Amino acid sequence: MDSYKLTITVHRGTNEIGGSCVEIATANTRILIDIGLPLDSVVKKLEDLKQYLPEIEGHIDAVFISHYHLDHHGLVSEIDPSIPVYVSAGTAKMFGINAIFLNKPKVENLRIIDMKTPVTVGDIKISAFTVDHSAYDAMAFLIEAEGKQILYSGDIRTHGVKGNLYQNLPQNVDYLILEGTNIGKSESRSKTEKEIKDQFVELFRKSPDRINYVWSSGQNIDRLVQIYIACRTTGRTFVADLYVANVLHEIHQLNANIPSPYSHSNFRVWYAKYQELKENENLAFRLKRFKIKSKEIAESLGKYVVLVRPSLLKYIQKINAAQANVVTSIWKDYEIRTENEAFFDWVDQKGYKRTHYHTSGHADQTGIQKIVAHISPKAIIPIHTVNKAMYSELFDHVVLLDDGEAYEF
Ligand SMILES: [Zn+2]
Repeated sequence: MDSYKLTITVHRGTNEIGGSCVEIATANTRILIDIGLPLDSVVKKLEDLKQYLPEIEGHIDAVFISHYHLDHHGLVSEIDPSIPVYVSAGTAKMFGINAIFLNKPKVENLRIIDMKTPVTVGDIKISAFTVDHSAYDAMAFLIEAEGKQILYSGDIRTHGVKGNLYQNLPQNVDYLILEGTNIGKSESRSKTEKEIKDQFVELFRKSPDRINYVWSSGQNIDRLVQIYIACRTTGRTFVADLYVANVLHEIHQLNANIPSPYSHSNFRVWYAKYQELKENENLAFRLKRFKIKSKEIAESLGKYVVLVRPSLLKYIQKINAAQANVVTSIWKDYEIRTENEAFFDWVDQKGYKRTHYHTSGHADQTGIQKIVAHISPKAIIPIHTVNKAMYSELFDHVVLLDDGEAYEF
């Protein structure tokens, strides 16, 4: 007698970090988990996105996006707009802000999903679990159909501020589709976000008269919070540009602990690049009373920690501090990209002191082993890795798939 089958197809991600896209299908229903843009893609205009769409046959009933990083959702604007797209509240907020500030395509048909409300699509049930990652409100998904359970880890770590969240994940599932960004890369322990905060505190204390410029991702909320706490601890004022301030203010609507200038003292907003906002001026006006001018920063340099990125170079030049600390709190490779050359050339020419404080958004090898020990899956399918063969050295029952291969069970 035929038993009812479930099919898993990893369209992309079995041999690369990024571009994740997994299809799960029963005889009647087909869903996608993530639809990411490969990290090495070259997209100059929106039309360039199409070429990166994986070959997906048949009708898709729904898409679930684990978090707002481009390598997990970057192709979502390319699917039929009538397909519902399920995201967390945090992911929805970030999509909204990025559509305005970064000219990202608006995602149609968004539906918010949270840990309390599983979603049923045809004969598939999907439950979301918040996990710790460098994207706020990132989720893992449990997919249940035909009496079987598949858990998709999304991007996950155990060394972040909410590093214990993996302990809420369901156990003894049939298949765990598991990210392995750091598998086989290095066996060293990743720093915790708290240790990163302590490094900032020490640096800010060491040079009381010097301005501190910090380049961190405006979307790495937990990191921004650590920097804010380090400012509070050392009596500095946290200065974010209009984009980052608006990101924090939006996420604050979901979680009052996230700093917003309205509720958190020593938080000022730098209107660098304000003129590019045009019709969305309300986003500028709502934070206007916290505005700080470059001149004001230049007058008491030691008072401020200013969040920057290379595209703000001309505004940093306007402040023209004689001395400064420049901290990169972001993946180290960004420092050597050609588009950032002008920024670092100027920083070096001024003799500013460069430091790098960062920790990965992905579990280290020990973290991955902790997650697997908790879940205790019957089998593991590697994804988001360039070292899938190494999974077999670490775990029992690994199923190695290739991109596009339909795995039926
Ligand atoms: Zn990610």
